[in-house]
Formats: sequence, structure tokens, C-alpha cells
Amino acid sequence: MSLPTAIANSTISNDVILSEPSTHKARLWMPERVIFTPAALDEPWGQQILSRVRSLNLPVEELPRNRLTGLRGENERETYDISKRTLAVVTAPPSSFKLSPIPPSADWQFHIAEGCPAHCQYCYLAGSLSGPPVIRVFANLPQILDNLVSYERPSEVTTFEVSCYTDPLGIEHLTGSLAECIRYFGNRENAQLRWVSKFDGVSELLSLPHNGRTRCRISVNAALISGKFEGGTASVSSRLQALRRLALPQSQGGGGYPVGLVIAPIMPIEDWELHYTRLFDDISAALDFDCDLTFELISHRFTPGSKEVLMQWYPHNKLDMNEENRSVKRNKFGGIKYVYDADTMKKLRRFFESQIAERFPVAKILYWT
Ligand code: SF4
Repeated sequence: MSLPTAIANSTISNDVILSEPSTHKARLWMPERVIFTPAALDEPWGQQILSRVRSLNLPVEELPRNRLTGLRGENERETYDISKRTLAVVTAPPSSFKLSPIPPSADWQFHIAEGCPAHCQYCYLAGSLSGPPVIRVFANLPQILDNLVSYERPSEVTTFEVSCYTDPLGIEHLTGSLAECIRYFGNRENAQLRWVSKFDGVSELLSLPHNGRTRCRISVNAALISGKFEGGTASVSSRLQALRRLALPQSQGGGGYPVGLVIAPIMPIEDWELHYTRLFDDISAALDFDCDLTFELISHRFTPGSKEVLMQWYPHNKLDMNEENRSVKRNKFGGIKYVYDADTMKKLRRFFESQIAERFPVAKILYWT
């Protein structure tokens, strides 16, 4: 088929694929350094994290003050390396108790951590979080959760997204915070928790009393794209197995959760229909039973700021971020992002929507962007 410019100029070729898809599980992230602020150690949830970290024999440092320092290297790449090996247990600042809306994903976002141990070369956090990308987890979780009640609408379900600034499952073995959120939402009448991950360690979540008030989503992509750009994550097939376990009824050993797939970032690489058809084949095989399923479809985009940060973090980045291949989209504050041109977007969207309609006629597509 003839391809528009953005597709024809795609930088990924077939010569590195067409082998069996990788099925590796994500290795649990073990930070080389775990630092606690005094304020974090004063919190009972901080003490709970301390016990987990000690039981894993990780080296713990207690800071003299509540400021994180000493995380910068000689250049941004070195700062990145140091940060991605460091877990900082801190308290969420007062400003984080004022929530922001997060359309189209959910009504509100809240944060149990900031930063992520994986190494995706298109990472959504680039340019959104300031300072070294150290993985900060919040020790004042009970207060963070108590604060959510005031954002709930009384008469209809209010949704809360917890994975805007972190991958909560990727650090769950160190924090237990995602499970605590799921338990909390299990007791709320009119609220739903939403989280998304590229990891696969779901065993501890399966027996939680979630009462259907958490939607667990797994982020996936064509195996070629994932293998090339998503360092430190679980393979797509391993993620799909995790999603299967989350969705299966508890009577069959699963979690019985409402689930979702976030397909992102969608890229019109060479032979994209073939690669994404394979992805849908794998999804169909993993979810071969009735379940409460949603899809979110996100095409690749970048901003001038995110490109600059990503090129510092990954100097050999092969991601196609050539502005000439893209259309410019402006937001109401004058910020710009680079997206695929309208024709490419239309082709991609039609393909994804028809695959979903054909294979999962009851599943809901929440949005395409
Ligand atoms: S899993 Fe998400 S947050 Fe983590 S590095 Fe990848 S894109 Fe960034």
C-alpha cells in the first residue's frame, strides 16, 4: 500500500524483527541506593516501606534534611544514570493535595510516586517532571488517599488516575502503595481507581478486595516497537499474561478486575498493519473469555521540550522525532506538540477501531488521540 510521508520515513525497518516474540518477565527493579528523608521516616507508611526495603537487603541512607541533594552527575546522561538507580522515599508536598483534571483518561489525577525505573526512549515523563529523574515514592499515602474524598461527585462515579507520573506496578514490590490504593477504592461507593503499567508482577493484587472499583490497564505496543524502545519493562506477551490474570474471575484464580488496554505510542512503522495485527492476535489469545474491557489508543507525539530531554537521556535514540514529518498541534496555552499528519492519523485510527470492533465487539474505546 502507498504510505504517507510520515510512514515512508519511519526509522524502524524489518531486519531486526521477524524472530519469535520475546516473553521475558520484567526483572524486579532493585535500586542501588534507597534514601529516606526524616519526614518520610516519621510516617507509618514510610516505616512500612522501610521494612520492605530492609527485607530485600537494600542499602538504606537516612538524610539529615528533607531536601534531596547529590543526585546530579557531570552531564544529563550521568544524572539520568544515577537517578534511575535511586529510590527516594519522601513526603508529597502540600501542593500535590490540590488535584488536577486529566482528560480524557480520568476526572482527576493523584500521585503516589514520581519517576519510573524503566527506560522507554519516548518516555511520557520527559519534560513533565523537573529535576533528576530519581524515583520518588510518597510516604504520606494515607493523607494522599484521605484527600480524594473531597473530589468525589456525590451522584455519579468519579475516576482517579494514579499513573500519570509513575508506573505504579514497577515499584510495587518496594512500596505496596498500589495495593493500598486498590483496598481504599474498594470501600468507596462512587469512585474508581485507574492505573496502567508496562510491568507484569500482578500476583499480590489478585486477591485484593477491589469490589470492581479499580480498572487495571496494561500498556502494549507492537513487539518490534516495544523491544526496541521500552528498556527495563516486561515483554508485551508477559504483560498480556498479567492482564489475563487480572481479568480472569477470582473463582478461576484471577483478580476479577475490570481491565483495559492502552495501545501506545502507536507508530506507523514500516509494515505497521502487519505488526499491529500480530499484536491484536496476541491480545485475542490472552483475552479469550468475556471480561469488562476498554481500549485507549494514543498515537506517538512529542513536544520541543520532551525531545530535548529525551535526546539528553538517550543520545543514540532512534525514535523518529523529525519535526518535518509531523503536523503541529497547539494547545490553549500556546504550547505545541508534533503529531502525525491528518491522513496518517485517519488511516491508523480506522485500522485500530475496526480491529477492536471485529475482535472485541463489546469492548469500549475510551478515546483515540
Ligand atoms: S514505563 Fe512509562 S513512565 Fe516508565 S519509562 Fe516507560 S514510558 Fe516512562
